Amino acid sequence: MARKTFPTSKRAAIWRAHKRLCIYCTELVTFADLDVDHIVPNHLKDKPEQLSKLLDEYGLSNDFDVDGLLNLVPSHRHCNLQKNKKILSKSRVIHFLSIAESKYNKAREIEYKLKEQAKKDNFLISVQIALEVGLTSLNELTQLVNRYEECHNMFEVLTVLPFVNCELKGFMSSLDVESLYDLPILPRTCGLDKLTLVKLISHKEEKIEVVTCSEWVEAVSDGFYALTTNDIKEETLFKNVYSLVVALSQARTPKYSFISDQKVSIANFDLLPVTLLPALSSDSIKELQRLESEGIHIPDLIAQGRVKVVSSSPLTLTLHYDGMGLYLNEILRADLNDDGIEDLLLGSYEWALEGTFGAGGSVALTRLGIDHPFTVTEHIELNVRETWCQAGQSDLRKQPSFRPRRRHSLPGLILDELAKNRHPGKGRGGY
Ligand SMILES: [Zn+2]
Repeated sequence: MARKTFPTSKRAAIWRAHKRLCIYCTELVTFADLDVDHIVPNHLKDKPEQLSKLLDEYGLSNDFDVDGLLNLVPSHRHCNLQKNKKILSKSRVIHFLSIAESKYNKAREIEYKLKEQAKKDNFLISVQIALEVGLTSLNELTQLVNRYEECHNMFEVLTVLPFVNCELKGFMSSLDVESLYDLPILPRTCGLDKLTLVKLISHKEEKIEVVTCSEWVEAVSDGFYALTTNDIKEETLFKNVYSLVVALSQARTPKYSFISDQKVSIANFDLLPVTLLPALSSDSIKELQRLESEGIHIPDLIAQGRVKVVSSSPLTLTLHYDGMGLYLNEILRADLNDDGIEDLLLGSYEWALEGTFGAGGSVALTRLGIDHPFTVTEHIELNVRETWCQAGQSDLRKQPSFRPRRRHSLPGLILDELAKNRHPGKGRGGY
């Protein structure tokens, strides 16, 4: 029978798994001088009866693979030749077989890795050649990578976002944030078609009008704020879009979920922190913090008649608490702070039951385990950092807000064209 030759990946795997030592003399063997030796002789494959008898003697099953890693060991060429001249004792053979067995997993792992590396090298060589001969261009490859990235980090936006002439809903990725940032927002809850922000400069009120999220961020970072009741209400939508821009730029597919996997949503109000309840003054914020520290939950407040659940669905929740209304709606589910755990991005809106006040924003919640309640997600900044400088003071305390990097525009979005003359004053659900 002809000498058996093995692929380089198998030879190298056996050699490395045995720490490059010859099995017979236990000295180092170079790869150039390496013989891969069969412990149970290869030539016996031509003499099945003899092979079967031998396998039986060594306590091996009849389907033992003579060419398998359990029967292959590294040796020097000369050691192998010497061995072939004499008959090994049964105990020696069993000893070598046990060594081969102890190296089996390691050898298999090395062989697999070497093969994968070779495939990868071949692929990269092919790509490089294709680029060199002009079979493909860098641009085409970049587009391919972008499309791949886009498809693998798409997240469903669960609420309808009203913009001028269109509503956005559906799957978006970090590639969409720049477009969201520059799309004119339609703040029509109170019939306004733009948002007016003010700032006091030397006791004089300066006004600025904004339509897009980026204009709003710039103005708010510069110390402008909404003053009238209607502007404060409308600003909610700008805050929601901004939080979505931030969330999408950081969104990852979660490794663990204690929300979706446990079929939990904001409808499970017993899991929500009491600090989410509406609070108008710093006193009522302190009151909620006190309740939280005392371990009071929303069901306790329902029992006391202080909280009333007005309506709930898997994506929305409306509560009344101490003369205030609270509306929560789910915007996005994803890992938002790179801890591997799924978070919820929520829009929130609170209003006075007897009065005209209404204001909203966004909050991110997470659930860190099966037995855990919802807690506010850490390490994500959903609000624009405002300058707290009074007129005439320097801008030393001004901090830059999040700004998305420019990518390309709205590829994965569902755009619903709407009639241009939208109902002025038509409210959004729950507001
Ligand atoms: Zn040797």
